[in-house]
Amino acid sequence: MRVDSKVRDIVARVFDGHHLTRDEIFSLLKITPHSPDAGFVVVSADRINRAASKGKAEVHAQIGLNLSPCPNNCSFCAFAAKNNVFTENNELSVEDVTQLALRAEGEGANAIFLMGTGDYPHGKFMEISREIRKTIKPETVMIANIGDFGPQEAKQLREVGYAGIYHAVRMGEGRETKINPETRLNTIRAAREAGLLIGTCVEPIGPEHSMDEVVEKILIGREMEPCYSGAMRRITIPGSEMEKYGMLSEYRMAFLVAVVRLAMGRELIGNCTHEPNILGATAGANLFWAEVGTNPRDTEVDTSKGRGLDVRACIKMFREADFDMLQGPSAIYSKKNSI
Ligand code: SF4
Repeated sequence: MRVDSKVRDIVARVFDGHHLTRDEIFSLLKITPHSPDAGFVVVSADRINRAASKGKAEVHAQIGLNLSPCPNNCSFCAFAAKNNVFTENNELSVEDVTQLALRAEGEGANAIFLMGTGDYPHGKFMEISREIRKTIKPETVMIANIGDFGPQEAKQLREVGYAGIYHAVRMGEGRETKINPETRLNTIRAAREAGLLIGTCVEPIGPEHSMDEVVEKILIGREMEPCYSGAMRRITIPGSEMEKYGMLSEYRMAFLVAVVRLAMGRELIGNCTHEPNILGATAGANLFWAEVGTNPRDTEVDTSKGRGLDVRACIKMFREADFDMLQGPSAIYSKKNSI
């Protein structure tokens, strides 16, 4: 079985330190699944990934603070008002969030994410953030995963002790969501100007998306100069308008994780996949999320009783994929490791 010389040349350019062009990324995405070329891409991404993070994987713990029928109505999200999964507001108390953060920290999470829905009040988010910052170890990295915001809010996030944010121009943004892609980019600019690092991901990908759009979102992510990218599949919310499309397999997602890993260049330390799975960890992912509280991919109020894995389960998966675990604060959310 031979690997196509064009595929070999494209991958060699990544090993030589180049950033792939739009056409090169597209060529990789078009490779026939289950082929020698596809296998070569996955193995190459795995090699680059392990080298970039010195063989050490990270687990970040996300605490979903609240549920609300969110008016932004992203079609793929369990919180979207139109999906009728959650019809009442519900939120964790500061005490609950504190306990969850301490537990995640104790279990070895390299960063703690606080996540609020797109309509979660910024003032309340800051109050909880201050409490958590005071409670957890000073060196533990805190990341905000919230809706769009401007320069003022970005500055406040930095002042309260956040190292970065998670944000993405998502698949179907402006089409499957009511949010203009430019609004997402403005948030990212505001965050960067305030000194916050940006984690991003090509998400949520479903069978309904074209490879053209996957390339577009990979490049948008690369232009953000993030501290990591990656790929995540769309999880079907029962009864949603996306249900008819089904979902991508973990096998297919692992290939997309590999292409994103190569497209981001050999220097970028981090590459994520979600939800955690061993195939992804052997195809270019070195970052998983453990989840508790609310989760936009779950119909359970507390995702630890549903789709969410805890920190220990994520670590176990990485160990099964022959990774060592980074001990202590995230190296991915570190200024020196961003591109
Ligand atoms: S993804 Fe965020 S903004 Fe969109 S509906 Fe869900 S909570 Fe609201």
